[in-house]
Amino acid sequence: MTQRFIMVGAGFSGAVVARKLAEAGHACTVVDARDHVAGNCHTARDADTGVMVHTYGPHIFHTGDDEVWDYVRKFGEFAPYKNRVKSTHKGAVYTLPVNLHTMNQFFGTALRPDEMRAHVATLTADIPEPESFEEQALAFVGPDLYAAFFKGYTEKQWGTSPANLPASILKRLPLRFNYDDNYFAHPHQGMPVDGYTALVENILDHPLITVRLNTVFDPATAGDWDHVFWSGPLDGFFGYDIGRLGYRTLDFEEFRAIGDWQGCAVMNHPDPEVPFTRITEHKHFAPWESHEKSVLYREYARACEPGDTPYYPIRLVAEKALLSDYVERAKTVSNVTFMGRLGTYRYLDMDVTIREALDTADAFLAAQAAGTPAPLFSQAPL
Ligand SMILES: Cc1cc2nc3c(=O)[nH]c(=O)nc-3n(C[C@H](O)[C@H](O)[C@H](O)COP(=O)(O)OP(=O)(O)OC[C@H]3O[C@@H](n4cnc5c(N)ncnc54)[C@H](O)[C@@H]3O)c2cc1C
Repeated sequence: MTQRFIMVGAGFSGAVVARKLAEAGHACTVVDARDHVAGNCHTARDADTGVMVHTYGPHIFHTGDDEVWDYVRKFGEFAPYKNRVKSTHKGAVYTLPVNLHTMNQFFGTALRPDEMRAHVATLTADIPEPESFEEQALAFVGPDLYAAFFKGYTEKQWGTSPANLPASILKRLPLRFNYDDNYFAHPHQGMPVDGYTALVENILDHPLITVRLNTVFDPATAGDWDHVFWSGPLDGFFGYDIGRLGYRTLDFEEFRAIGDWQGCAVMNHPDPEVPFTRITEHKHFAPWESHEKSVLYREYARACEPGDTPYYPIRLVAEKALLSDYVERAKTVSNVTFMGRLGTYRYLDMDVTIREALDTADAFLAAQAAGTPAPLFSQAPL
């Protein structure tokens, strides 16, 4: 008998799993509460300016996973794109990530790499086992660079002092002792020429896939399906009945300009007296296009309230305790796979989301063939 599979969420998670199952001969229904596919990666061409706008914030595709890179390019053309971010601090503009240019400008020096390493070593604190983000930053970069580029930005982004955040957020030395200002270190980086929404529409374009937009899936109806692939919020599946997992949400204040307003796609504003974190000028994400007018977003971060779009999972001690309780709840459900950034309550880049969705579909098909239980999570949330 034909089985009935539903993917809740038409972002990369839902679309990639649906495609893989459809290619294996299974009919799939994909629903999304929104009026578009592609989830938070959605892009839409602005009617007035013609600019491709990243509706839920800037998205740059970068990966070290060759299979994922081949996968996305099967469904859309990618143009080369290098993410180069700038930062305005106390009336001066610096280049990020913090590199030799940034540091020479900041210290008013003309030091070579080894000289700068030696100079920074005189500034950093000797903290053998940093516990907080702040201690980690002081150990890596010292107080002045920390205050200029990390402290205020992090406070605005997370709504708390970096002294309260775990050291693990800053895993690697965020300084480059050369002039490389390519934000991402991955070998593959690019931007889909027709935007992410067209790319996801192509992934979903299969005779065995039915897409229903403006459709909210009610978890109480999960039993109507042979299997549910849930990429909505994990706590949302249970009606938030034991509490809400904490997220940061973003407000985008749109403004328009003629010509080139800031000269780059992303300008960070780390200073604490500036209320927003960054300004995005969308047309610079498509340097192969030419537009007279411009669309920009000022980005503000704040605590996510019921009804807001959840963006960044907070994952501090209290959230992890609640997450652990929801993971136990999930174990009581038999025909659901929780997946993606919301379903597993983790920050995931697009390439990781796609990799996990491909693996989840493979694991599901293998379990079906073996008659064993389907995966409960695309990846363990804890
Ligand atoms: C500000 C920001 C910038 C980012 N920039 C980058 C970047 O530059 N590069 C990068 O690689 N990654 C970036 N990411 C990460 C990227 O957004 C995620 O990897 C991606 O969105 C994850 O896809 P997903 O399908 O798991 O989730 P989503 O895209 O969130 O899709 C989930 C979908 O489920 C739907 N849904 C939820 N509940 C229901 C329900 N009950 N019924 C119906 N539909 C439901 C939602 O409407 C949503 O559309 C960024 C993320 C943020 C927050």
